[in-house]
Amino acid sequence: MNLYGVSKKELEKYLKEKKYPIYYAKEIYQWIYQKKIDSIFSASNLPNSLRKDLEQDFPMTSLEIIKEQKGKDVSKYLFRLSDKEHIEAVLMRHDYGLSLCISSQVGCNMGCCFCESGRRKKVRNLETYEMVCQILEIEKRIGKRISHVVMMGIGEPFDNYENVVKFIEIVNEDSGMNIGARHLTISTCGIVPKIYEFMNFPYQVNLAVSLHASFDEKRKELMPIAKVYPLKELMTALKKYVEKTNRRLTFEYILLDGINDQEEDARNLAHLLKGINCYVNLIPYNETTHLQYKRSKPLTIAKFYDILKKSNICVTIRREFGGTISAACGQLRSEKEEL
Ligand code: SAH
Repeated sequence: MNLYGVSKKELEKYLKEKKYPIYYAKEIYQWIYQKKIDSIFSASNLPNSLRKDLEQDFPMTSLEIIKEQKGKDVSKYLFRLSDKEHIEAVLMRHDYGLSLCISSQVGCNMGCCFCESGRRKKVRNLETYEMVCQILEIEKRIGKRISHVVMMGIGEPFDNYENVVKFIEIVNEDSGMNIGARHLTISTCGIVPKIYEFMNFPYQVNLAVSLHASFDEKRKELMPIAKVYPLKELMTALKKYVEKTNRRLTFEYILLDGINDQEEDARNLAHLLKGINCYVNLIPYNETTHLQYKRSKPLTIAKFYDILKKSNICVTIRREFGGTISAACGQLRSEKEEL
């Protein structure tokens, strides 16, 4: 097992079994996530025997950044994993801090037809440490702390549930990266049973749901997952989620020219979301060379926005970062692998 995939609780259990004081867990976390040492032997205040044990039981292999593309307020990173697969992460500079969009799987099985990532089927889930190390390696490279993390890169986080919740526990730890739960966002295409499971997860993490259509028929065409979990089931689960957690939901809605951007789509969306504590993030589509979808016209976007606003739905149009550096979800990976 990799050291970056071990929670503080697991580390304490390990220390106890090996008859070391459990407060070393906190120190190990500080060394690896705050002082960012590359070898456990640099943790100078730990007993030598413990360092040897850790070296043997928990290797500290990480990911390798093999490409960086810089835009104005955005940088995109391509990582190579130990089995030579590739994933990507996008760093965005906001006035409130640095936000990193990370991947959760190699490939994706959700098959949303507008999405570049899904053109390659899921190869495997990312291990917990591979999610943690996307943040750590970028922090090391830029010498700054990342304050916000969104799981909106390649993959469906709820299709890798166990590793994702462990990832949250690790990066949230005070003595480690200390990323506040409210600064973490999981984005899902709507896997209903996992939404029920997630309501009982005791961290105040944000949940974003990729909706992209307010009519079931259209949603099924865009997102195959809607055939398994239709809107009615999805909305019932989400209402329960809000009731139970008291948290505000985010809905993501990509605007695709002539497909889901008409007035009736907006009116139906307002109707669907009425009374739910949520806000809608309208996303101007990032066009990619492999897919035929076009982004909606500015006037259409403005009209869509107005209809929601007038229906008292909280709505924003997503600020764009990635356009100039092919930061549409999954684009860098496709360019590298030419798939
Ligand atoms: N599987 C998860 C998270 C990954 S996708 C989910 O579906 O939410 C993260 C977001 O990026 C989703 O809302 C997805 O629909 C959106 N997205 C995918 N391709 C895009 C593109 N070319 N332009 C803009 N947004 C895109």
